[in-house]
Amino acid sequence: RREKMKALELLYQGKAKSAYLTEDQDLLVLKFRDDTSAFDGEIIEQLSEKGAVNNQFNAFIMSKLSENGVPTHYVERLSATDVLVKRLDMIPVECVVRNRAAGSIVRRLGVEEGMVFDPPLFELFLKNDSLHDPMVTEHHVEAFGWATRREMSRMHELTLEANTILKGMFDKAGLQLVDFKLEFGRFHGEIVLGDEFSPDGCRLWDKLTGEKKDKDRFRQNLGGVLEAYREVAVRLGIVLDN
Ligand code: ADP
Ligand code: UDP
Repeated sequence: RREKMKALELLYQGKAKSAYLTEDQDLLVLKFRDDTSAFDGEIIEQLSEKGAVNNQFNAFIMSKLSENGVPTHYVERLSATDVLVKRLDMIPVECVVRNRAAGSIVRRLGVEEGMVFDPPLFELFLKNDSLHDPMVTEHHVEAFGWATRREMSRMHELTLEANTILKGMFDKAGLQLVDFKLEFGRFHGEIVLGDEFSPDGCRLWDKLTGEKKDKDRFRQNLGGVLEAYREVAVRLGIVLDN
């Protein structure tokens, strides 16, 4: 069985992870690299140990989501940086939920950072770096054939479910889940959560001090990026390998 999980040839290389084929057509190995990108790949830097920390972080979150009824691609962690996942037919759309305003919505709509959205706000972005991930609507998703109306409504539903589960979990750890991004794909006809959930793809603010504990530390040059990722992991009860 171990043999079956070995990474064979490189299928594709993203900005932060590489995907490898395995002997099993339905499985991929994802390798979390230390590369950290911002501004649609304009800036790329190495953050030592980020790959390993995010791999463990993601494994923990994906397991929690699965336990709570969100179907995910996660199978098992293979090593410090590698995870075995179901191979999905990815839908090229980013599903974002915002509990509070930060990042692009502040620039786009001129609202104040921290404004509360109740109920949470759901947004869609086309995954396309050269177009700078433009915002799209569910109508675009359907009209361009990226997903069917039924698939889109399932992604919407699962993203809001994930928000409910994760918001509660981070709250208990003294953190506010400000916003996050999810990517989904198809697996034998089912919509399944793919990609990753880590501090690279969400915003987390300390409940007491408001301090940023996510990739904004990198984007805004605040320093202590990996220290913050590790702190969040420890607060969630994750026992980091290194
Ligand atoms: P990016 O595409 O943003 O540069 P990454 O470096 O994270 O992202 O690369 C990971 C790539 O693998 C992404 O294109 C993502 O859509 C894809 N991917 C993630 N999970 C799966 C999966 N289970 N099956 C197939 N492709 C996946
Ligand atoms: N996000 C992401 N990948 C992207 C774009 C956004 O993981 O390509 C995450 C980001 O980390 C944040 C949320 O999605 O948690 C909302 O991002 P936003 O639209 O504010 O864009 P940003 O200003 O972060 O580029």
